[in-house]
Formats: sequence, structure tokens, C-alpha cells
Amino acid sequence: MKLRLTTDASDLFLRPGLENADTPLLTIRIHLDTGKKPPPRMDKLTISVSSHETLAFPSGRYEATTLFDWTQEIGEAAGLAIQPNTMYTWQAIFRVSNETDEYHRSQYARRYQKGTVKLTTPGLLRPKTMTLEKNLFFVHQPASDSTFSYSKSESIVADRLGLMLVKAASVHLNLGGYLRVWLDIPTPAPEVQIQQFEVSLLQSIVLRSRSDLKIEEVCPVERLPFLTVKGKEVDVGHWIARLPHDSAARPSSSSVLKRGIITTHSLEFALTYTLTDQPNSTKSKDDSSSRVYRVRWPIEVPSCALRYYSLRLPEYAQDDAAPVPERERDEFVSPNEHTSTEHCVCGQPLDVLLAIEGELVAARLQDEASRGNTPGEDVQPPIVMDEARLKFESGTRTPKTPS
Ligand SMILES: [Zn+2]
Repeated sequence: MKLRLTTDASDLFLRPGLENADTPLLTIRIHLDTGKKPPPRMDKLTISVSSHETLAFPSGRYEATTLFDWTQEIGEAAGLAIQPNTMYTWQAIFRVSNETDEYHRSQYARRYQKGTVKLTTPGLLRPKTMTLEKNLFFVHQPASDSTFSYSKSESIVADRLGLMLVKAASVHLNLGGYLRVWLDIPTPAPEVQIQQFEVSLLQSIVLRSRSDLKIEEVCPVERLPFLTVKGKEVDVGHWIARLPHDSAARPSSSSVLKRGIITTHSLEFALTYTLTDQPNSTKSKDDSSSRVYRVRWPIEVPSCALRYYSLRLPEYAQDDAAPVPERERDEFVSPNEHTSTEHCVCGQPLDVLLAIEGELVAARLQDEASRGNTPGEDVQPPIVMDEARLKFESGTRTPKTPS
């Protein structure tokens, strides 16, 4: 006898903070292949969805909590006589609140969801129970689609460097995605010699105890460099870099007020330079050592699972349409389940992402032309994003991969 547990998708997308968002439905199917010699009947069949959280506070405090464990019993299965060589299928639907906490995996905390099926049949001495589990990923979508379309610049006047312009932009910002970065320093002092330009994602995690509401600890900030340019290369001024992927970083939390795990991010631009000695100057030795100038701003980074042409395939095969590799999820060092699947942005090559960017820009221009606008900043990117996403989801367009 063989038991299987399948879902349409391993990711369940939630929209926290939206008042009139639809309640997401999670459908789980149970398949039972009875084989040649099954037990005579079923006593009980239950299916549950649960969420488990572990917090490893920097101080050494440790908390493990089951956040919920929703169980449904399949009534029609109770007492059912099992026929040999038969395939039975049941399904259970769970209504999941948009406010349900998301999947998390980092150095300081874990939070995961799973589906569990339990089938009890009569045994010789005591009842026999078959148990099967499947990992699920609850993913929070940003409150607004405009989060994906990102562009921010800053101009600063710094000592000796003079005017410094920094810009970052992406048509679809998320973990594992890409970021275009610009740097312009038009008039540095002659003695300035630039050594390095580095862009990092700074990740900050705050843990708030669920059992003692007074306890809150801030974990050490993680600096995740994703673009390093050295020496003369800095003059180029424009680069395309991949953001840290799912194994290295978490998406930003939707709310900084909740309990448990709160993740926030900043972008950091660090310029390392030295001052060469001028012939007629009386500089101290300190002036020739390298200096670092940093520019930082907060950024909200959505999950890598939120790629715009993310397809929710219906179940069509005997096998699970959305398989998830089986891994120990309490383990704090092993790689993430996401890295071995291709369902997220992390698994997409840069040329595919840039091809999609090209299509989105073309769609925007077409959109502006059809409305009789002249191209400009006033066109709202979210509208174009939605159109493009619909086209991808309906399968009428696939991203062109440059040859
Ligand atoms: Zn990913």
C-alpha cells in the first residue's frame, strides 16, 4: 500500500496588511494506491497543516513554538473497506489567513510550514499508522506591486570626493534578482585614488519572544556584498549585479511590529580610496591610508519566489506537480530547499532576467504610446508590470533568451 501527498504548488502566496484581499486556499490531495494485499479497512484519515518556529537568540536563549496545527479528518474514509489494486483520492482545502507568518530560514531563526497526512488501519495487536509529510512555503507578497519596480538615487557631497551620485534600479526587485547600479564622481580632488567600490545588502534580524513579551534581541547585522569593483574599473560607472539569493538572505518582513522574526534591509554603497601625497603638502601619514565612504538607505526586498511569470500548474501527472526536496529543516547549516528547485528567481540566469526587463520596458513604451503620452517618468510602472505578468501567466509570452 502506498500513500502520497500532493499540492498544486509548494508556495502559498499571502498578502498581509491588505484589508480586502481574498483568503488564499491551500488544497492538499491524498492518494492511496492500495496494492495487492491492503489492510481490510481504514479507521481514520487526517490531514493537517502546521507551522513551526525556532528562535536562537544571540544571548543563548532558545525558543521552539508550534504556531498552529490545523487538522481536518476525512469523514468518508473512516471505516471504509479497502479494495485491493485501487487508487483512492481525497482532498482537503485549508483557508489560510493572509496574516499567517511566512517561511523563514536564517542563522538565527527558522519558521516553516508542512502538510502531514496520517492514515490509521487495523493491525494485529494495535492500530497501524502511516504518516507522510510535505514541506510547504508560505510567502508574503509586498503590500504594493510598486515595490518590485525599484529606482532610487542620491547625490552627496563628500570631503575630497566632491559630488557623488549613486543610483540603484531594477524592474523586478527581489532576492536572487538583479540590480542596476550607477556611480558617478565627476570632480574628485586630484590626490584621490579610488581603490574599490562595493555594494552590499545589509540584513538585520530582530527576534521577539513569543512567551515573554518583554524580550527582544537584535542579531548582528549581516553584510552581504554582491558587487565589488576595483581600481580603474570604477570609472565604468554602471554595472548589473545579482542580489544575494535565498540561501544567503531572507526577504524583508511585511510588518516590523509582529512577534517572532523581523527582517529588515538596507543597501550600502562603500567607496574605498586613498590620498596620494602631493609634492608640496605637509600631510600626516594617516592621509595616505585608505578611507571608506559609505552611503546607505533602507530597502524592502521581496521573496525570490515572487517571479512575475510564476506559474501555478494544475496537477496533471501521477507525480507531484510541485515536488520539494526532503531536507531536515531544523538543521541550521545545510543549504536551503529553494536552491535545488527552479521555481524562483535565484534559479534564473541573468540573461533571462534582462530579457524580461527588455520586454517590460518595451511594454511600457507601447503602453505610453497607446495612451498618447510622451515617454516619461509619469507612467506608473505597476500597471505595466501587471499587464506583462498576465501575459506571462497566461502563457502567451515567454521570456526571450538572447542567443
Ligand atoms: Zn530562490
